[in-house]
This record gives sequence, C-alpha cells and structure tokens, in this order.
Amino acid sequence: MNKKKWVYEFGPDKTDGNKDMSAELGGKGSNLAEMSSLKLPVPPGFTIITEACASYYELENKLDEELKKQVLDSISSLEKQTGKKIGCSNSPLLVSVRSGAPVSMPGMMDTVLNLGLNPSVVEGISQKTNNPRFAWDSYRRFIQMYADVVMGINTSILDSVLEDLKEAREVQLDTELTADDFKELSEVYKNIISNETGLVFPDDPEDQLWSAIEAVFGSWQNQRAIKYRELNNISHKIGTAVNIQSMVFGNTGDNSATGVCFTRDPSTGDKKFFGEYLVNAQGEDVVAGIRTPWPINQDSMNDSNCKHSTLEELMPKVFKELTEVYQKLELHYKDMQDIEFTVEDGKLYLLQTRSGKRTAAAAIKIMIDLVAEGVLSQQEALMKIEPETLNQLLHPRIDPDVEKKVIAIGLPASPGAVSGEIAFSPEVAVAKFEAGKDVILVRKETSPEDIAGMASSKGILTARGGMTSHAAVVARGMGKACVVACSTAMIDYNNKVMLLDGKNYSEGDFLTIDGGNGEVIAGKIPTIEGEISEDFSTFMSWADKERRLNIRANADSEVDSKVALKFGAKGIGLCRTEHMFFDPERILAVREMIFAQDKEEREVALQKILPFQRDDFISIFKAMNGYPVNIRLLDPPLHEFLPHEEKDKINLTKSLDIAESELEERISSLHEFNPMLGHRGCRLGVSYPEIYRVQVRAIIEAAIEVKKDGGVVLPEIMIPLISIGAELLLIKEELEQEVKKVLFEQKQDLDYKLGTMIELPRAAITAGSFAKNADFFSFGTNDLTQTTYGLSRDDAGKFLPEYLSHEIMPIDPFVSIDVEGVGYLVKIACEQGKKANPDMHLGICGEHGGENKSIQFFHDVGLDYISCSPYRVPVARLAAAQAAIRSEK
Ligand code: PEP
Ligand code: MG
Repeated sequence: MNKKKWVYEFGPDKTDGNKDMSAELGGKGSNLAEMSSLKLPVPPGFTIITEACASYYELENKLDEELKKQVLDSISSLEKQTGKKIGCSNSPLLVSVRSGAPVSMPGMMDTVLNLGLNPSVVEGISQKTNNPRFAWDSYRRFIQMYADVVMGINTSILDSVLEDLKEAREVQLDTELTADDFKELSEVYKNIISNETGLVFPDDPEDQLWSAIEAVFGSWQNQRAIKYRELNNISHKIGTAVNIQSMVFGNTGDNSATGVCFTRDPSTGDKKFFGEYLVNAQGEDVVAGIRTPWPINQDSMNDSNCKHSTLEELMPKVFKELTEVYQKLELHYKDMQDIEFTVEDGKLYLLQTRSGKRTAAAAIKIMIDLVAEGVLSQQEALMKIEPETLNQLLHPRIDPDVEKKVIAIGLPASPGAVSGEIAFSPEVAVAKFEAGKDVILVRKETSPEDIAGMASSKGILTARGGMTSHAAVVARGMGKACVVACSTAMIDYNNKVMLLDGKNYSEGDFLTIDGGNGEVIAGKIPTIEGEISEDFSTFMSWADKERRLNIRANADSEVDSKVALKFGAKGIGLCRTEHMFFDPERILAVREMIFAQDKEEREVALQKILPFQRDDFISIFKAMNGYPVNIRLLDPPLHEFLPHEEKDKINLTKSLDIAESELEERISSLHEFNPMLGHRGCRLGVSYPEIYRVQVRAIIEAAIEVKKDGGVVLPEIMIPLISIGAELLLIKEELEQEVKKVLFEQKQDLDYKLGTMIELPRAAITAGSFAKNADFFSFGTNDLTQTTYGLSRDDAGKFLPEYLSHEIMPIDPFVSIDVEGVGYLVKIACEQGKKANPDMHLGICGEHGGENKSIQFFHDVGLDYISCSPYRVPVARLAAAQAAIRSEK
C-alpha cells in the first residue's frame, strides 16, 4: 500500500509541489516550491502538509509516526543538498520552522528561526565564520524565540534583560553589543527560563525540531489566530502547513541584510519598485518595527528613512539581481508581489513571495496597468480583485475647507480619514467599541495580540514601524485607516498618556488620523466621502460589460438615491416606506393613524400622511429619472411606531383628544408576543386596506406629477410578507382599483408594475400558484432566512457566534445566503414563478444582495437583478461580473 505523502521538498535540486497546491502546502509552501521550479535562489527545505495539522489534533497533540519518519528523511536529504549536518559543530545545518496556511494570516501563527543551535554548535560556527558575535547573537535570538513560541514563556523579562544590558554598556542598538555580551545574555536567558519553568533548555536539535513543529501546529489554535479566522471568515478546519527551510543569515555582518519589497507601491499602485531592509539583521527585525527600516532605493524614501543608504547604493549587485527577480516573479504570477529576501555575505536568497496586500485604490491601478502592459486580460484583472476590497475606496477624507491642527505626520499606511477617541490598549479599544464609540487605537507598535483591538477601531496610529510593519499590513488588509512611524509621539502606556507636539493626550481624547497622507490632527474633524477615480470608473466599466445581473440599491430617500446612482446602481430594488415615517413632522400623524378607532378616523390621519409620502416619492422618482423604483408598502408591526417618551405620549393624547389612561390601554392592546410573526406586512393591508390604498395613491400621483414634468418614471409597487396566494389577490384587486381611480381623476396613463416579496417559506413553495398575479418577485432573504431557520434576526447575535465557532454553520446565514436551505426555497420559487408566468421579473432585496458569495448564487439561479445598500453597489457590480466570468468557464 502506498504510504501517505506528508512531506513535500523544495529547493534547487528537488521540488515536488507548485503554486496551485496552496490547499495542501499553504501559501508560503506552494510559493517556495514554485520559486524553486523557476530556478530562483531559494534555500532548500520541505513542507509538511496542512492535513498534518488536523492529524496532530486528532492524535491528541501528537505527530503521526509515518510523518516523523518522512521529516527525518527530508532532513537527511537537506543535509545532502547543503553539505551540512544537523547538530554537527563543524558544519551545522540550521533551519527555520514556519507556519503557512492556505489563506494568508499575517503574523497570526508562530515561527522559530535558527533551530539546531546549542553551545557547541555556536562555538563551531564562531570558529568557522570567525564571527563569534554573529554566532552568539543568533543563539540568544533562538533562545528567546523558542522560549516564547515553544515553551510559552512571557519573554518580556528577556526583553528587559537586553534593554538593561544595553543601558549598562551605554549603547542604543543591538548591533552595538559584542559577542561576549550575547554569550552572557544567552546564559542569563537560559537561567531565567529554568527558574520560570523548572525545565532545562534543550540542546538536542532533534528535540528542538519536534517541539517546534508541534508548536506551529499548536499556534493554529491560539486566540489571535482564531480571532483572525473569525474576522475573515476563514474555516478553522483548513489547518496550517509547516515549512522547514535551511537558514540563511542576514546578520553575519555588514555584507548581509534582510528585507521586504513590493513590486509596485502598495499604497498607490504606482509602478515603482518599493521596499525596506536592514543591514546585519534577521527578518523579524524589519516586520516588528524594532529598528526603523532603510529604503531599498530612491523610490522607497520617505521623511523617516531618507537619512539612510539604499540597498541600491550599498549592495548594487544584489539590488540588480533583486530587480531581475521581482520582474520575473511579477510576470509569472501576473500580479503585484510582496517578496521577503535575505542577503548572506553578499548572496541574495528569496524566502517568500505572495500577492501583496494593497489598498483598494492601488489594487485597481495595478490591474489597469497590468492590462495596459498586456500582462492580463480584462477578465483576468476582474477576477483578481476581491469585491469586498472596493469598500475601502469609498472611505472618507478630510474636508479641505475645514481648518485643522496637524500635530504630527507619520507614514500613510492605509487610506481613510477617521476621528475617534484614543485607546492605548486593545482591551480599551474593544470596550469603547462595544459602548458604541469610535476609537483610534494608539500603540508604540502593534503585534498580532492587538488584532481584536484593531478590528474594533476606526483607525490605528503607531509611533514606530514602517510601511511593511504589522500595523500597516494588517490595517490595509482590514481596510482601516492607519498612520505608522509617528516618531514624535511619546506614548506612556502606564500612565495612559501620549505627549505629542507639546501637549498630553489621554485616553478618551479625540484624535483624527488621515491614512491617505499620514497627518495626525487634534480633535474631531468633518470628513467628506471618497471620490470615484477615473481608474475606478474604467475598472467598473469592464465589470459592467461582463455581468448579467442588473444592480439596484435599497434606498429610502433622495440623498440615498443619489449616492446609489453615483456608485452605479440602475434602479431602486427596495424603498422601505416606513423609514419615511420617523421624521418628527410626520410621526404624530402616523401615530394618529395607528390609534384610530375606526376607518374614518384612520382616513383623516392618512390624509395628513399622503402629501408627505407623495413628496418623498416625487423626489426619489426625479433622482432616479428613467430607472425603476420599487416601493414596498408598509411592512413592520405597528408597535414600532408607538410613543415611548412622556412628551410624545402627551402630544398624542392632545391630538387624539383622549385621556392618558385610554392611550395606555390602546398601547397595550397593540402588544404582540411575537411581533415579527404577527400583525405586519400584507396582514396590515388585509386589516386596513385604506393604509395601502393611500400609499398607492401617493405613488401614482407622484409618478404622474414627475411624468407631467417630462420625467421618465417606472414605479413598481411591492406587497410584503405574502404567504398565501389569496392574500396577494385580495390586495392586488384593491390596489388596482385605487390606481385606476387616480388615473381616471388625473386623466393620465401610466405603466407600472405590481408584485410581491417572497420572504416566507410557504410563499416560496407555493409561488407557482400565484405567480400569474405578480409582475415580479423580490426575495426578502432577511425574513426568508429568519423564517426558514426559525431564527430571530434580532436575537441570533446572542448565540450565533457559538454556532460559528463550532462550525455548526460555516458562516452567519444573515450575511451569506444558506444555499442549501434558504437558497433551495429561492430556487423553487424562481422555477415555479417563471413556469407560471414567463414574463416574471426576479430580484432580491435582502442584505445578501451585496455579498459576494450570495451574488454568485443569485447569478446561478437566474435572477434579473440584485439590490443592496448604496455603498455596496460597487462590490455588487464586481461580484456579479466575477459570477458571470466563473459561469462562462
Ligand atoms: C427582507 O426581509 O429581506 C427585506 C428586505 O425586508 P426587511 O429587511 O425590511 O424585513
Ligand atoms: Mg422583510
């Protein structure tokens, strides 16, 4: 029987995997294999597949025996390829052990570098390299990382020992310490670890290796990784691969370096090679923001790094080779790449490549350029952008006409101008967010522990770090505004205060940051909406050519309608009339309608509402000139409009001319045990036909008025919450009479449509029986999800998180449609509806209309349009184009 293949090798001599194997090898592993096949200088190594992670947990935190055997075989193979031997002091093989999931989870899981070191190996390296400083520096780094990642020790004590030593030696940088200093540090570190754990720090490289592999698998389940997966809808089941690679050293001296580069500018998308590096350092020094990184070339210079020499100046040969490599990688992957490299004694090595995280504006510019350069087709370019990222483009910026007090300028790491209260810790950020406040998280630098705080903040400001620091990369990915390297900010975590520009800022004070230009501003500043660039319009026009679904917006006002049009909506798919009732001028009349004792009283109140509604519709019809406007008749349970405040109650008793006790009686008579399943939707139309009649009159009168003014109007009247065909028929006949009446009065003709929502399972199942009585069906997937699952949309938030964390549900069904259940009902209704009425127009207006995966389903099931909130229209346009392209394939 064939043994399971747990391990895949990569390197110049032998490569088993490729870039299409990220599910098995993780993103990092598959790209290391691909780069090796491209004959790029990748240090050899091997990858343990992601499935081994699940196996590790199934075996109750143990490694499979066959897997261990294959790892040892691959170590032997690595020894042969490198001519080094693990644990051998003359020629030791040292390895890195890194995580690498199929989906990028930057910094969430653990890594151990320099594995294989022990005092005798260190002595051997010092003699061989004649560089004891490098050897002992590597060892103390290894001890620290291993203690943190594998032994689970809080290493801040080790940090303070290092800081104390620097102070004692009167130096500022780690690079100024000597070999003896590092040797001494290693001993102190090991003593602290023994005291803390009662364990001896392991010298045997094989023990180190197994523990490090287990620690990487263990880190899949650490709190920050779990949180990251929850925030990004990544399944907990996919697991991480482990990459074990022979070490190359960027810290052997001044002819060595380590860095990160992007093939294009990740903030703007400009076609310029861009990156940061540090001489005589290891990779984590660049990303952790401990030392301010240096620019690799002129194009990467900014205010905080321009004093330093570029890689191009210091190591021209390496820079030239790196230039050739980045061009080759970008052409090969047909996308902007984020590359990690190390230079060891003047020789370049590549440690990673991946599609670089970028701002949405940069993503679009890069796609436009790659198409113009002939690298990508328009369809390929459309498929490369995650629709959700378009949301970022619509981020606000500071109103240029407003006076502002700029107190500092940092690096513009992720766009958007936001104001909020300062929080100095992730915990405070989360607490403020939960209390409904806008937050700016202010940190010296961020680390993966801060992830929940970052997610709860509107913006992130850090004192340290560069454009590739943790804060910059994560904020960009989350679409949060971010300013890094604000070096004038003196942050004191203990006293919760930041000294900036001569003034103290405390927790709770307001701050504004502009991630587009790096400005930090005191106080709260008005912002204006993002503008649509020419690149954006071009890109969206490609999407519009591909998509089959029409895109509408859910909009209840003239303002919303204009935003919707600006973002490319071609109609309104849902105008919730009740949203118009809450205006203080109108609510009294609405309450009079609700509390009316009989039809006549209700008619009087409705006559007060009629002109308001008519005016609303006129302004919406005018704004949407020529595009369909779908108006839904009153839907929510009436108690939503009841007065709660004393002054509102008094007002109402006066206008109804009743005593307060009577009002209370009437209020309690409207009480329902289950209002969402109670007297709402078309049931109101059955009980009080005059309400729907007046609404329809307002719609038709408004349409006629706009038409008379030369406008083009396409009104659609929508009846909510139908469950029985007879309900629809009754209301339809009633409303048609009213339309006829208005047209007769006005001596006008008008095309209009009358249809129904499908938002109850019974309606979906029996849709064929009443389809001939509807011009359209619009799926209300919010209520359809609620009623299919029997899951209250208002209360599910309390317990759904457990369903998600146990993966009982893959994703919140109110966010992404449940194709299997709710989707099945949609499919039945579409098929039956079209069969009974081939002219039937089909749409969706639940929240799912703006969600990527759901849009694929709506495309597949054959809807004519999707309708979503105005700001999500660009996301919907791109998702609809991607759905069409996928189906074509
Ligand atoms: C729906 O139920 O999907 C819908 C659009 O209606 P509402 O959210 O107003 O109930
Ligand atoms: Mg509904």
